[in-house]
Amino acid sequence: MLLEGKTALVTGASRGIGKAIAVKMASEGACAILVGRKMDTLKTVEAEIRQKGGNADCYVCDVRDWKSVTNMVAEIIKKHEKIDILVNNAGISKEMPFLEMPIEVFDEICEMNLRSVMLMMKAVMPYMAERKSGNVVNIGSGAALRGLPGSAAYATAKAGVVCLTQAVGDEVRPLGIRVNVICPGPVDTELFQKSERREFILQAGGDLFQPETVANAAVFLASDLSEGMNSQTLVMRGFNRW
Ligand code: NDP
Repeated sequence: MLLEGKTALVTGASRGIGKAIAVKMASEGACAILVGRKMDTLKTVEAEIRQKGGNADCYVCDVRDWKSVTNMVAEIIKKHEKIDILVNNAGISKEMPFLEMPIEVFDEICEMNLRSVMLMMKAVMPYMAERKSGNVVNIGSGAALRGLPGSAAYATAKAGVVCLTQAVGDEVRPLGIRVNVICPGPVDTELFQKSERREFILQAGGDLFQPETVANAAVFLASDLSEGMNSQTLVMRGFNRW
């Protein structure tokens, strides 16, 4: 058990990569705190975890909203006393040519994929700092490392997550907190299956990962297996360009 006794908050835990991370962390002994916007889907994941003998709890929260985020974190601390692991996974994608992209879409994608990560870290890290212990795993994207045509806003926001990880990771290291980011290539989830870039990405040589493969990397970063690793980008790709 790599995460015995840990409390692990996972955003976007109702499906896809976030669900796989929550299930895997619970199977490694963590209490998985499932966060998303719909209680019914979160409850389904909680039931799956409990059926496998794990422990989980659910919180409805829109991670774009500072008030909802701070209220939720306060509630979690009141009930669970601590948050050892924070996985910032919730994200969205909207694809369109840059010249056709309304400015509002750029703002929406950055608000969801970058600003929400900043909000979650600002809300959770003070509690981690108090205990001089914490571990943050952010989910970036291969698109952060080489801007994906048709996804300018998404790629830009994800590149921001990589830089945020590095800057904040360096700052909070003396407080006993580690921050790392995973940049996966294509992963077989609803987000990817709905993507208009699907064929383009796969033709470019992208191996399609299963969400469980990303979950293994998240457990590695969240556990002592990766002791000493901080402010780093773990790239999960079977190829090196689009
Ligand atoms: P999915 O669309 O399958 O799942 C997204 C999750 O985020 C859902 O649980 C959704 O739940 C939640 N979510 C969306 N908006 C909000 C919000 N405002 N507040 C709280 N939760 C929210 O996506 P994936 O599993 O594919 O992606 C997960 C992460 O991995 C994302 O950050 C994505 O960018 C990244 N990624 C994905 C890749 C892929 O190919 N799939 C590749 C590289 C990175 P609900 O709607 O119920 O709130």
